[in-house]
Amino acid sequence: MIRIYATIFAAIAGLAFGSFLNVCLTRWPLGESILKPRSHCRACGRTLAWWENIPVVSWIALRGRCRTCGAWIGWRYPLVELAVGLMWPIAVWKSNPTLWLFPSERVAFGIWIIGKLVFLWMAIALAVLDSEQLWLPDRITIPGAAVGFIFNFLYVAAHSPTVLAYYGALAVRSRLLWRFAWHRIAGILLAALLILLIRWTYKLIRKREGIGLGDAKLMAMLAAWLGLPGALLSFFIGVTLGALTALALLALPKPRTKKAGLPEEHPSESPAGAQSWALRKLPLGTFLCIGGIVSALWGQSILAAYLHWAGF
Ligand SMILES: [Zn+2]
Repeated sequence: MIRIYATIFAAIAGLAFGSFLNVCLTRWPLGESILKPRSHCRACGRTLAWWENIPVVSWIALRGRCRTCGAWIGWRYPLVELAVGLMWPIAVWKSNPTLWLFPSERVAFGIWIIGKLVFLWMAIALAVLDSEQLWLPDRITIPGAAVGFIFNFLYVAAHSPTVLAYYGALAVRSRLLWRFAWHRIAGILLAALLILLIRWTYKLIRKREGIGLGDAKLMAMLAAWLGLPGALLSFFIGVTLGALTALALLALPKPRTKKAGLPEEHPSESPAGAQSWALRKLPLGTFLCIGGIVSALWGQSILAAYLHWAGF
C-alpha cells in the first residue's frame, strides 16, 4: 500500500518539478533569473493565471497556444512535464518504498531515492539543453558529478552499518568506504577519458571537432551517479540511439522548405524540428542522457539479462 501512495505522490511531484524545469530550460540559456518574474507568455509578456500553469492539463486545454496572442507554446512544455512525471514514479515504484518501514534502512533508503530523483531531473534538463541549444553547461555537469559522488558515498556509508553490524568492526567499514571512493573516482576519470580518446582520434583523422568537451564532463557525471558499468551502458545505449536517429534522418525526404523553388540555405527559425535537426550536429549529449536514464532505472536488469544470455 505504501508503495502505491508513494508512487502517486512521486507522479504529482514529478509533474510540478517538470513544470519548474521548463522555466529553467527557457530562462537559463537567456541568462534570466528563474525566480523573479512570474510565469508569462514568451510572445506577448502577459503574466499567466494560476490555471494556465497546471502541468500538461493547461497545455491540452489551451491546445498549446497563448490565450491572448495565440503564440505557439511548443511541444517541449508538456513533454518535459510528462518525462519527469513518469520517470519519478517509476523510480519510486522500483525502489521498494516499504524499506521506509524499517528504521535501520530509513536513512540509506532516503539518500538512495532522493539521489535517483535528483539524477533523473538533471539528466532530463541536460538532454533538452543539448537538443535545443547544443549546450551542456559546466554549471550542471561538474557540480552534478560532485553531487553524484557524494550521494553514493553517503548511501554506502548509511547502508553499510546494517550489513556490517554483523562483523561489528569499524575498520572493515572504513576500508569499504575507502574502497568505494577510489573505485568510483577511477570510474569517473576512465569514463571521461573514453570520450577524450574518441575526440582525439576523430580530430586526428578528420582534422575537425567531433565530440565536445561537454560530453566528456557528462560521461564523468554519469559515472559518478551510476558507476563505470552504468556509464558504459549509458554510452552504448546513447551511441546506438544516435546512430539509429542519424540513419532515420538520412532516410527522410528532403526538407519541405525547398518546394517554394527558392534556394533556401538557412535552416528555418523554428527550433527542434526534424528538419533543422538534419541540418545541425546531432546532440550526442541528449542520447547519452537518455542512455543514463534507462541505465539508472533498468540498468541492473539489463546487465543481469545480458550476463545470463552470455552464459555467465
Ligand atoms: Zn501571449
